[in-house]
Amino acid sequence: MGIIVQKFGGSCLIDAAAVKNAARIITEEYEKGSGVVAVVSAQGDTTDRLIAKADEISKKPAKRELDVLMSAGEQLSAALLAMAVGELGYPCVTLLGWQAGIVTNSVFGHARIRDIDPERIKKELAKKRIVLVAGFQGVDRKNDMTTLGRGGSDTTAVALAAALNAEKCQIYSKIDGIYTADPSCVPDAVKIDEIDYDCMQELSFLGVKVLNPRAVELAKKYGVVIEVKSAFHSDKTGTFVKEDANMEKMLISGVTKMSNVARIFVNDLEDVPGAACGIFELLNQNDIQADIITMATGNNGKVDVSFCVSGDDADEAERVLLESGKYGASDVICDKDVAKISVVGVGMESHPGVGIAIFEALSNSNINIMMITSSELRFSVIVKKDAADEAVAAIHKRFKKY
Ligand code: ASP
Ligand code: MG
Repeated sequence: MGIIVQKFGGSCLIDAAAVKNAARIITEEYEKGSGVVAVVSAQGDTTDRLIAKADEISKKPAKRELDVLMSAGEQLSAALLAMAVGELGYPCVTLLGWQAGIVTNSVFGHARIRDIDPERIKKELAKKRIVLVAGFQGVDRKNDMTTLGRGGSDTTAVALAAALNAEKCQIYSKIDGIYTADPSCVPDAVKIDEIDYDCMQELSFLGVKVLNPRAVELAKKYGVVIEVKSAFHSDKTGTFVKEDANMEKMLISGVTKMSNVARIFVNDLEDVPGAACGIFELLNQNDIQADIITMATGNNGKVDVSFCVSGDDADEAERVLLESGKYGASDVICDKDVAKISVVGVGMESHPGVGIAIFEALSNSNINIMMITSSELRFSVIVKKDAADEAVAAIHKRFKKY
């Protein structure tokens, strides 16, 4: 009996009708004779609402307890889905992370899966039960509940697909695949049939929320082929994420936007060895990741450093840099009114035309570029937030003709 792992995102479990629809998809697969393991996310914005509830009580809740709270959303989904599957007359069982054998490290809020013991799942499948697993959660070696970071249910699904040697790993949401740009912002964006792990990981990192970047990383490591598809058009083929994707000589896989970013300037640093190191060490100690780093020597013999961080980390970055007062920085400025626009594709740096095409598209739309960075897989620019959608559309249009 082949095993199929299906993951249902919060957007396709949003209400009773959606839960019943997911139950239909699951039982249809079961009817084909497969062992079905369905991983669920919390309904809609449940996780955000749980975090908001915590925030009403404490600004710095214990991370362990926040995980106990956040993991409740998936437990709710799993139980409701089990009832819907039961109503259709099929045998099923729900398993929370610990019952499903998902063992993680103890980094609450961002735990990493260390080991999976799939014995219980296998036993349930052998009894011909559909297994419904609460995603996003695990248990550490001390038996404390952990969560895998926002969007972590995808990781649960891929990890289980690997551990169970599943035939398929389907990720259902309300979106029917990966597009060359967000269709709600670029109406003529095109659905991609197949994409390789590296490009998908970049897209996920750079703002495509359909699939979590860590799940893609894991899929690459274990060779799990993922199909991203819509629960509301489940008969339609989605996008396959795999190693040897046929990307039809596509140079560009997609154009993305990230609005939750901030640009930080640290001005008038002493021009001495270790100055940059000091700044980024400080950020690292505070778990803040920086990218698009630039450094420029001013005419006063001092240096200015600027970089981007996630919008969630902006205040903290500003605070730690100001408080440290290291290397004589005269001031730290934080600009949250920016967005990161990226173009992802294979071999970008070996095609010099790509950069020029991006600059031309933005220049023709009169959009100012504030920062630029590139790698083999992507080109990113920072622009003003209110120009972001137009920038995506202009770049996407330019590459349609590429
Ligand atoms: N419910 C969690 C979140 O919203 C996990 C997930 O959806 O994958 O981040
Ligand atoms: Mg979610």
